[in-house]
Amino acid sequence: MADTDSPTAGASPVSPIDRDLEAHLAAHDDEQLQRLLALLRIPSISALPAHAPDVAAAAEWLAGELRRLGLDDVQVVATPLHPLVTARWHRRPGAPTAIVYCHYDVQPVDPVDQWETAPFEPFVRDGRIVGRGSADDKGQIVMHLAALEALLAVHGALPLNLTFVFEGEEEYGSESIMAWLRANREALRADLVVISDTGFFEGNIPALTVGLRGITYAQVDVYGAPVDLHSGQYGGVVENPVNALARIISALKGPDGRVRIPGFYEDVLPLPEAEQARLAALPFDEEAYRLGTGVRELVGETGFTTLERRGARPTLDVNGIWGGFQGEGAKTIIPAEAHAKVSCRLVANQDPDRIFALLRAHVAEIAPPGVRVEVRLIHGGRPILTPTDHPAILAAARALEAVYGQPPVFIREGGSIPVAAAFGEVLGLPVVLYGLTQPASNAHAPNEWLAVENFERGARAIVRLWQELAELPR
Ligand SMILES: [Zn+2]
Repeated sequence: MADTDSPTAGASPVSPIDRDLEAHLAAHDDEQLQRLLALLRIPSISALPAHAPDVAAAAEWLAGELRRLGLDDVQVVATPLHPLVTARWHRRPGAPTAIVYCHYDVQPVDPVDQWETAPFEPFVRDGRIVGRGSADDKGQIVMHLAALEALLAVHGALPLNLTFVFEGEEEYGSESIMAWLRANREALRADLVVISDTGFFEGNIPALTVGLRGITYAQVDVYGAPVDLHSGQYGGVVENPVNALARIISALKGPDGRVRIPGFYEDVLPLPEAEQARLAALPFDEEAYRLGTGVRELVGETGFTTLERRGARPTLDVNGIWGGFQGEGAKTIIPAEAHAKVSCRLVANQDPDRIFALLRAHVAEIAPPGVRVEVRLIHGGRPILTPTDHPAILAAARALEAVYGQPPVFIREGGSIPVAAAFGEVLGLPVVLYGLTQPASNAHAPNEWLAVENFERGARAIVRLWQELAELPR
């Protein structure tokens, strides 16, 4: 690991990277902004088949940029759905190799009438770049391109080896890249993965996300008689699938917020005391968070704080439930069936398949007689947790501190990025979530924006990250 006497140390917070690099970046900030606006004008919505040609166009745009920068092996890789764009610069034998991941597809734009202007006609106002994809994730792609361009223009080389993987399907489940990762393990040999698809903390506090939750998503189906029965003739005599489902659901989680599936917590890594203290010290405004949700009170597992519950504890929720008569008025039946979507957010070291097996076994155990109950898996994704003292995380923290003048906070996010876990799991590599956007960016919502300041400083933070990682021993 680089010590504090590394060649880059000693730079003042004003000039966290060397003068020539800073001069080059400063001279090209506006050009890079124009480049981002051009990419934002391509409506690469991966979820909508009508936009497939736009996703392809964004891939070609990106490949064109990578070729212009002189990267090697630039490819638009066809997949069953949307293409990947890959490239490499491996001209520093002996130096570490990082895989860089971002995604160039975007979320759909509805409700369109809530946008100030058309989502794909981006504009800059009051220091904000507004447009679909500005924060998630095209802005971070262009930050990476700007960093590359500066390093190659000024030094003629990068300080380490980079493999770029840009996905066009992240907002639509990332299915294609999973198979591609498994099939290309050899070509993807590296020392770590850097993913720029997260953000800072509370306002705009520099942060490194070190944990993401995984997920097990299942459906529970309860069947009684083959058809709805008259509740006068059969009530009290046959089991009612909706009642049965309600009993099953209520047995899965207690009022104390504890999941009651035997073995559910067995693999959960306890939160180290140091990290508990770190979470408690974060400048988190719990009341503002509550107000943002619109609920009367925050609740959760007894013995844990809101931030712990959100990022470091697993949970179980019913996402939807249906069955029986739902029309106006009354209909006296015993429904033939009832259904629920049930998902668990998982934390390190839980395995989504094992959790599904435990859930299924427990539901079978508690299912009342008189009905047939099925539990099936809809999808699963693994959690990730990179230790805060991992040399790559420390290097990333040094880079952010150099550029922002304050050490980043370490956070665990409650959501999932399945591809992040896949990189870690399939390639066996540490994952650094190096996200550089402000959290209130309206990602996935109308009027998505990226602060021009985050965009410009982000490029510098990436330059500095490569310099810090280059110093790490292999
Ligand atoms: Zn994203």
